Amino acid sequence: MNKEEIKGKLKEYFGFSTFKGLQESVIQNVLDQKDSFVIMPTGGGKSLCYQLPALIQPGTSIVVSPLIALMKDQVDTIRGISTQDGVAHVLNSSLNKTAITQVKNDIRAGITKLLYVAPESLSKQENIDFFKSIHISFLAIDEAHCISEWGHDFRPEYRNLRLILEQFNQRVPIIALTATATPKVQEDIMKNLKITDAKVFKASFNRPNLYYEVRPKTSQVDSDIIRFIKQNENKSGIIYCLSRKRVEELAQTLQVNGINALPYHAGLDAKSRVDHQDRFLKDDCDIIVATIAFGMGIDKPDVRFVIHHDIPKSIESYYQETGRAGRDGGEGHCLAFYSYKDIEKLEKFMSGKPLAEQEIGMALLADMVGYAETSMSRRKFILHYFGEKFDNATGEGGDMDDNMRFPKKQVEAQNELEKLLNAVLQTKEKFKSKELVKTLKGETNALIISHKIQDLEIFGSGATQDKSYWMALIRQALVAGFLNKEIETYGIIRITDKGRNFLNSPQSFKMTEDHKYDQVENRQGISTNTSGTDTVLMKLLVGLRKKIAAANQIPPYAVFQEYSLEDMCLKYPITEEELVNINGVGEGKAKRYGAKFLELITQYVEENQILRPDDLVVKSTGVNSSLKLFLIQSVDRKLTLEDISAAKGMEMDKLISEMETIVFAGTKLNIDYYLEDLFDEDQLEELYDYFISSDSDSLDKAMEEFDGEYEEEELRLYRIKFMSEIAN
Ligand code: ADP
Ligand code: MG
Repeated sequence: MNKEEIKGKLKEYFGFSTFKGLQESVIQNVLDQKDSFVIMPTGGGKSLCYQLPALIQPGTSIVVSPLIALMKDQVDTIRGISTQDGVAHVLNSSLNKTAITQVKNDIRAGITKLLYVAPESLSKQENIDFFKSIHISFLAIDEAHCISEWGHDFRPEYRNLRLILEQFNQRVPIIALTATATPKVQEDIMKNLKITDAKVFKASFNRPNLYYEVRPKTSQVDSDIIRFIKQNENKSGIIYCLSRKRVEELAQTLQVNGINALPYHAGLDAKSRVDHQDRFLKDDCDIIVATIAFGMGIDKPDVRFVIHHDIPKSIESYYQETGRAGRDGGEGHCLAFYSYKDIEKLEKFMSGKPLAEQEIGMALLADMVGYAETSMSRRKFILHYFGEKFDNATGEGGDMDDNMRFPKKQVEAQNELEKLLNAVLQTKEKFKSKELVKTLKGETNALIISHKIQDLEIFGSGATQDKSYWMALIRQALVAGFLNKEIETYGIIRITDKGRNFLNSPQSFKMTEDHKYDQVENRQGISTNTSGTDTVLMKLLVGLRKKIAAANQIPPYAVFQEYSLEDMCLKYPITEEELVNINGVGEGKAKRYGAKFLELITQYVEENQILRPDDLVVKSTGVNSSLKLFLIQSVDRKLTLEDISAAKGMEMDKLISEMETIVFAGTKLNIDYYLEDLFDEDQLEELYDYFISSDSDSLDKAMEEFDGEYEEEELRLYRIKFMSEIAN
């Protein structure tokens, strides 16, 4: 069949006049009975790469796919373009005897061109016997990344496909397809399927119309999301959360705030799921709040933004999920909220898993952290991850991320890069980034001591820079190609030829330091991010706070905390009601200290003719306020904190955070009864002296000051007592 004839079939069956991307050459390769490996982003048109040749060729093609729902959709599509229903079938365990006989008859009669099978069914002996007796045109493996443990969706049953195929007694060409494959995953798949000679078709992963942005995740994340949605009114968006519970809560909060949102997760009954998905597809609802259960096979072209309320477990997942934005080529905003606490939670989840799986999970997660914290081009970071080099000359989308639009200052790092590369060499290319950083900082652990690294010249030579500086430099040296990270060994760093050349003739190397979201995130996950805040007003507010604090003989933070002032600079409250809506301000404080602040802001807004975002007042669902009430009552009844946390099924850490929110907002909580057992008189005095004279309520600073004398939890509990008494 020549090119024109194949094109004719494309038109005849699918109604398209031209092929998309690499489709034509893939199809030619399949028709030539050769093995193919196709890597195309979601929406690239992978299905057609096997559907069209299956329809053209003699025999039946077998399609392996992990999701039964997706198989059914595809079967319906194919049946729709044919005169015979038998042209496509699903073979799985849910079929009864009669149905199975029908399927087999259609195949023998040469009617069936595509047979969709789940890997489990493929391995059944009776099916293997049947496959021996028919002519199989080729085997298509969709979502082939499921083969690799290094992929984001490993499925053990996928690893046996080759063995099964070898029992079919005929040579069957293979076409493997996936939307995400790092070089490592690609290699794994090809080895496992024994198709190392397959022709690889790899489309670019660059999605120039997507804008990537990461913001610190604070306790105000819901408000941040609401604000974003209100600024993007009537646009279609997906919000991903990790847990079903969070999906439900957030969807409710959005609804209460007048946003047309619906939840979607695997815990909903099938009818609601279908209904919510349909309404989203039909633009009957603007926002879908979902777990990762949502999206596979969803083909809505005009999704304008994808928000990640929680950071996903790997860059593969992130790329897949954000890939659902802007499929029509129009605007697509990908906004992720990031806090290191979430990463720790994910690590905790993983700790129950088998060791190998844990190590892989951690390595994938480490790259996700790298993405979130990096200050280099996010697009370059992603493309490098998938083994693709961003083309500086022609590469589109070069300025489409927060780091490129609002670049951090670049600093010269030639000397530091030399140190880093020397550290890699002197430690004999044995270490992962963590140990390299320790070596440079001059810190030891068991591994470092066992290799006698402390005797090396390089040890401690980078002590003047902090840890995050070195992590950032390692990442940027990786992307620039001076270093190489070995995935097989869970991230051992080696030097490349380019790196060796650099050491022979060092040149200027500019780097940007990473964002420090964890410092932004000092306590209770509250933001002190100053980007975008009104710095002029901030100065005025800080000045006013100082005056009021002095008059009341309390530290400034006991009046209003830093983040509350920052929130005022964003929202410009001018009434007491609006002030209460400010992060960390409760009614008590608004009454006590609010008037002067409102006066100042009102004047400022008038003088500078500032448009206030007064429609952005966020309402709460009331879930939190009932919890607060419960806490206040329980403390009143002098219940132990252990009992309270048990009663609400919440962790101690969460309980303390809630109590902090309460007292910082200006409500009293007398927990003296509980602290009696924790501190003696001297300690209470020492702690009081510290907090009353400190210019900051930072826990880190307090920890440093007391140098291990108190646990972090103890300091937080004391601080609750202090704030409750002094500031309320
Ligand atoms: P993938 O599996 O790569 O995510 P699909 O196979 O589901 O992508 O295809 C995505 C969309 O592209 C589908 O709506 C499909 O109809 C459409 N499509 C595929 N090939 C073509 C083509 N040659 N011309 C126009 N549209 C196409
Ligand atoms: Mg697909």
